[in-house]
Amino acid sequence: MRICSFLWVYYGYPTSSYEGVNVEAMRYNCGKMLARRDSAQADSVAGIPDSGIAHAIGYANESGIPFARPFIKYTPTWPRSFMPTSQNQRNLIARMKLIPVDALIRNKKLLLIDDSIVRGTQLGETTEFLYQSGAKEVHIRPACPPLMFGCKYLNFSRSNSELDLITRRIIRDREGDNVSDEVLKDYADPDSQNYKEMIEEIRKKLNFTTLQFHRLDDLVESIGISPCKLCTYCWSGRE
Ligand code: SF4
Repeated sequence: MRICSFLWVYYGYPTSSYEGVNVEAMRYNCGKMLARRDSAQADSVAGIPDSGIAHAIGYANESGIPFARPFIKYTPTWPRSFMPTSQNQRNLIARMKLIPVDALIRNKKLLLIDDSIVRGTQLGETTEFLYQSGAKEVHIRPACPPLMFGCKYLNFSRSNSELDLITRRIIRDREGDNVSDEVLKDYADPDSQNYKEMIEEIRKKLNFTTLQFHRLDDLVESIGISPCKLCTYCWSGRE
């Protein structure tokens, strides 16, 4: 039996441990390994709530770029007077449930860590929201590799069809409807040309300044248990 690697990356509760590996500690590790492969110049590192925050703490501690909270998750019990007066911003906040901290965004280069990219819609909107709030650059670092295959083991439906995945839509546009498993696995290989071109397409589509995903080998190392105990099918297509 294999354990879902997403438990640590995204949906495990921070105080929980699986196979002796604590979720919060794994996320710090994951952020640390992301930072080791990165040379981004940013004013601050932030995480998309909730799981992205822990990955961002790990990244910030390793890179020396300060951790910050350029937006705060909207808590409905707060008085509405905390909301900006512009209707545009209020609409965005209603959708994103995030409130910008102007002093930490205006003219700043932000590096954001999200647990993953599924459709990309929400992260694209968050990025737009940050540009509208005055950000100069928005660098995106997902804490896991590009999702390439739908999960067939758990009732884990962050997407209904594989074509919901931004990766698969890009591959369909490049390769047509009938793509072999071999070609898909080539797109999943972070050292292939197809992978690099797919990442660049995602970056352009979602208007990120730069985009760099976590590598699967680093992700497995961040968890720290034997790879044969882990399921990584949705990234690699390998069972
Ligand atoms: S395919 Fe992905 S989401 Fe599904 S069990 Fe495996 S790692 Fe978890």
